[in-house]
Amino acid sequence: MKPSTRIAIIGAGLGGATAGAMLQLAGFDVRLYEQARSFERIGAGIHVSANVMKVLRHLNAELQLSQIGIHPDTFTSREWDSGKVLFELPLGSEGEQKYGASYITVHRHDLHAAILGRLEEGTIEFGKQLSGVSTNGSIAHLSFHDGSVADADVVIGADGVNSKLREAVVGPSSSRFTGAVAHRAIYPSALLGGMEVRNCTKWWGPNSHILIYYIEQSRNEIYLVTSAKGEWHSRSPWEFCAREEVASAFSGFHPEVCKVIETAPQLTKWPILDIAPIDKWSEGNLVLLGDACHAMTPYMASGAAMAIEDAAVLARCLSQFDDCAAAFEFYQAIRMPRVSKGQRISSENSFLRQPTDPTWVFGYDAINVPLGPPQQ
Ligand SMILES: Cc1cc2nc3c(=O)[nH]c(=O)nc-3n(C[C@H](O)[C@H](O)[C@H](O)COP(=O)(O)OP(=O)(O)OC[C@H]3O[C@@H](n4cnc5c(N)ncnc54)[C@H](O)[C@@H]3O)c2cc1C
Repeated sequence: MKPSTRIAIIGAGLGGATAGAMLQLAGFDVRLYEQARSFERIGAGIHVSANVMKVLRHLNAELQLSQIGIHPDTFTSREWDSGKVLFELPLGSEGEQKYGASYITVHRHDLHAAILGRLEEGTIEFGKQLSGVSTNGSIAHLSFHDGSVADADVVIGADGVNSKLREAVVGPSSSRFTGAVAHRAIYPSALLGGMEVRNCTKWWGPNSHILIYYIEQSRNEIYLVTSAKGEWHSRSPWEFCAREEVASAFSGFHPEVCKVIETAPQLTKWPILDIAPIDKWSEGNLVLLGDACHAMTPYMASGAAMAIEDAAVLARCLSQFDDCAAAFEFYQAIRMPRVSKGQRISSENSFLRQPTDPTWVFGYDAINVPLGPPQQ
């Protein structure tokens, strides 16, 4: 499409920011509309696997992030109570060679900042919550809760699991609470009184699990994230949570896990949401990416990775094809089989529990994948 095409992106999360940076690099006129007034450093870590690193490399953000994040030598799966190692996936230099880039764990805010830093200054309009969209021929009219309006030639919905733009593409559709909650905490590792934890370990319990890892090379901060059965009645995206609640959900786990939970000065709780699979990602000049069209449970640690890959492939399709219909058709054909597989494996919660070859996930290269129908 012509570089003068005006592209509006709704949501400047990980997927939207990546799409913006990719499209600006390709010369497009991009505006990002974000409902938040600013981005805060909320307590969450994230796995940045080799497939994501390849997109960051293209955006010239790989080096910055790999100097902050920790490069675990393995991803280790352990039995919840005995601590028996179920599977150890080599990462480090062996993984880098095999998958084509490194694998790091990092603070989510640092990943977001590295991507946002690739956008031209002033690209994001904060405090803009999309309230509606209508189309008139080839122009889309956007309206926001603050009463402002904007026009665009193409609109990308990167507005997450509760996407507003999704309504305009598939009709009313809400996210689903899966019956599980995630507890999260980040705190100074010095509080553990000298107890060292291994890099990047997932402890698998019968109906719950917990991941524990460092999020920076200095190992100054440690992160825990769980999944356990729970209820959710709040309208906010997360809540503070009593330590006793988490300790009770993980009682009987290995002493190392109990110590990491008991030491956490403050914990938060998040509902685990997904959406029913949808088979239509675009309508006219409107298109969806990331959680907006395929939110999945976080059990493969790949939801953001899939959003970032979507952004890269969509930007390439918009650059390569002359009209949105062709660009969106190829984008969906390339991406849907991969994310559907991700959704299925994530909801099974089986990824890397037992010896697994994850090359199909980490070896993927969104910057070079052919823009034709996917090879079977
Ligand atoms: C506990 C937990 C742990 C996770 N761990 C990992 C992990 O290790 N690795 C991984 O790859 N994934 C992980 N994920 C998944 C990951 O967080 C999501 O899949 C990812 O954030 C999706 O990116 P996105 O850009 O599609 O949406 P989001 O990151 O949700 O961004 C959407 C953006 O749109 C904005 N927005 C929403 N509505 C509007 C509107 N109406 N108007 C304007 N702006 C709007 C929001 O404010 C937000 O900034 C985890 C998820 C959870 C819950």
